[in-house]
Amino acid sequence: MGKIYVIGSGPGNEGGLTIQAKETLNACDIIAGYKAYTALIKPLFPNKEYYENGMGGEIERCKKCVSFANEGKNVALVCSGDPEVYGMASPLLEVTEEEGFSDIEIIPGVTSALSCGAILGAPLNHDFCIISLSDLLTPWEVIEKRLKAAAEGDFVIALYNPSSKNRKDYLKRACEILLETLDKDTKCGYVKNAGREGEEKRICTLFELMKEEVDMFTTVFIGNGNTKILNGKLVTPRGYFKE
Ligand code: SAH
Repeated sequence: MGKIYVIGSGPGNEGGLTIQAKETLNACDIIAGYKAYTALIKPLFPNKEYYENGMGGEIERCKKCVSFANEGKNVALVCSGDPEVYGMASPLLEVTEEEGFSDIEIIPGVTSALSCGAILGAPLNHDFCIISLSDLLTPWEVIEKRLKAAAEGDFVIALYNPSSKNRKDYLKRACEILLETLDKDTKCGYVKNAGREGEEKRICTLFELMKEEVDMFTTVFIGNGNTKILNGKLVTPRGYFKE
């Protein structure tokens, strides 16, 4: 019987892959994943067998991993960033619990909040939270409640899934909710395609962010009341230099 490794591949470039992830991918017999992400790592592991499918195929992908492992293969189930952050780790653990399969190891990766945060500066250097704006599996009312609570708590916020083809105005809606509590000049920023072709970054205010169009490969940051811009970088101070 083979083993299943759930591997975070980081932002998408070779340098962003941990050594542990790379060694495990090299040692596996088959790599399974969402096709947009396997496309990114294929050039690094060209001679591997692949199982790829599309968005919405997550549960099918997990079940396939179990059947490959039952055939005796060591399987790498890859996802971008970290597998525990809106990734494949929990669906695989749910599927395998049902199927009585337990030889699983989770290999962490650099999640987008961290890879994108580093590109902007140090926005997450105090208490922060991550909120996904995708309402595919989470009702919008719950997302709204979390946005309000995060603003109320003065957390720095990293937003994942800020937009998609059918949800063009979700970032605007989120900004409107945040503006009920936060100052319109709150320092914000976003990074698109971190570590990939077409990487872009922008720093702006919350009011300006409301009018920005971002895509699904973007991570958005909303600073806390102390976040500032230093030498063109978005920085949340830890508090060493309080006046
Ligand atoms: N497991 C992934 C997150 C998957 S949810 C992780 O830990 O990073 C998908 C969201 O991640 C995207 O909508 C976007 O907000 C963010 N994301 C993924 N790759 C990105 C990249 N290269 N640059 C910026 N944001 C990215």
